Amino acid sequence: MTPWFDPSRVFINGQWRAPLGGETLPVLDPSTGREFARIARGGADDIDAAVHASQAAMDGEWGAMPAYLRGRILARLGQLVLDHTDQLAAMEAADVGKPLTQARADVIALARYCEFYAGAADKLMGETIPFQPGFTVYTLREPHGVTGHIVPWNYPMQIIGRSVGGALAAGNACVLKPAEEACLTALAFADLAHQAGLPAGALNVVPGLGVEAGAALTAHPGIRHLSFTGSVATGRRVQAAAAENAVPVTLELGGKSPQLVFADADLDAALPYLVNAGIQNAGQTCSAASRILVERSIYPQVCAAMAEAYRGLTVAPAMADARVGPLISARQKGIVERFLSMADPAHILARGHLADDLPEGGHYIAPALIAGPGPDHPLAQDEIFGPVQIILPFEDEDDAIRIANGTAYGLVASIWSRDGGRQMRLAERLRAGQVFVNNYGAAGGVELPFGGTGLSGHGREKGFEALYAFTTLKTVAAHHG
Ligand code: NAD
Repeated sequence: MTPWFDPSRVFINGQWRAPLGGETLPVLDPSTGREFARIARGGADDIDAAVHASQAAMDGEWGAMPAYLRGRILARLGQLVLDHTDQLAAMEAADVGKPLTQARADVIALARYCEFYAGAADKLMGETIPFQPGFTVYTLREPHGVTGHIVPWNYPMQIIGRSVGGALAAGNACVLKPAEEACLTALAFADLAHQAGLPAGALNVVPGLGVEAGAALTAHPGIRHLSFTGSVATGRRVQAAAAENAVPVTLELGGKSPQLVFADADLDAALPYLVNAGIQNAGQTCSAASRILVERSIYPQVCAAMAEAYRGLTVAPAMADARVGPLISARQKGIVERFLSMADPAHILARGHLADDLPEGGHYIAPALIAGPGPDHPLAQDEIFGPVQIILPFEDEDDAIRIANGTAYGLVASIWSRDGGRQMRLAERLRAGQVFVNNYGAAGGVELPFGGTGLSGHGREKGFEALYAFTTLKTVAAHHG
């Protein structure tokens, strides 16, 4: 897969150029382990240039642009994304190891974010506040200025869409640091944004290592808001760096999300969601349903149905477009294998199978369904970030809530039940940023605010809610006597 641009450059102030340090990093195909391109190893100097270009954009054409024109550019960008669906999907499949169908879904989601935020740009309003006689009081929602965006490798397009899309709609200028494992679609997005008419400096992309370009971005005093999606460990560092400059930060971190299955659920409807939410993107999904909690009376039945589904799963290179592709890297594969080695072999209910003739250097792992290691076991507590699901029984609603809420995370959860009262009760009691009733993930819903509690992070992206985070509120109190 050869990108239509030279990926070894940074995109700053509307122009492509080599990173100032002159170095590049390899781009590896997770399906083969082979290098197929090079990306820039951006450093602190490049980040500094990007922040200055962003500030110049805020002080110039971009900062003065009416909201409806920002929206028009985002709408054009959404159409350009759709026009490049095949190229972007192939690029992401090669870069992340994502099966083509999943990569195409990510392209569509990116376009949807552009469309949604295009329409929202000129509908972000303040309020008038009844105050004392002789005063008129109103609020203005203003952009922060230059915003920093650090994204991970698992869903680059979706996360760029929700983060950069929202920030641009609100009138900020962005510096984006994509993950070193998967930068290509971030660079493609910058190129398309330029084609769509985004003024120079409104979006800058600096690939590079987290500890170099990433750390430089979080520490830069010119950044007025940070949006971070990634691991808990890095999230803590990002928040600490943000504290130094006293800037707000949105943290979208990991999860150990449960699906709760009650005896009165429509199991035929539930089954595809139970399995897919664990193995989509080879389980490398922050909102993966890595825990399936099942009411005791139907536990054997659900275990059997899920095990059968697992035995039908094939793992293959991204371009073969099987249900499951490779993991992103040898490192990630090692992490997942270490977790699997903690499982009692008697607890492994079923595994998927690896396709014949897999390329030798690919990072393949057969999905695993594991029953009953106990809710406090590390397998049931820690984020594995691979195609592994834990299935546990519960006795009643209280027990289900105790187990569901019994991890350090709180990202998403779902309830499968036909009982309307139970749906409402449990939706209230579940500790999560999103709760689904008789579905899981709501097909990604770009309109739906997303984010976590606890170690899953804080702040919300997606939907209209994100625009509040990407703006700062000014109150104007006018005394007119
Ligand atoms: P990571 O934290 O290692 O890397 C994420 C990003 O942070 C990358 O761009 C990386 O270069 C950068 N980074 C690394 N060190 C940095 C530093 N010191 N300063 C600044 N930036 C730095 O995470 P990952 O392994 O790429 O992603 C996997 C994790 O992300 C999982 O825990 C997953 O749950 C989480 N995730 C969360 C969401 C969500 O929306 N909640 C979405 C996707 C992934």
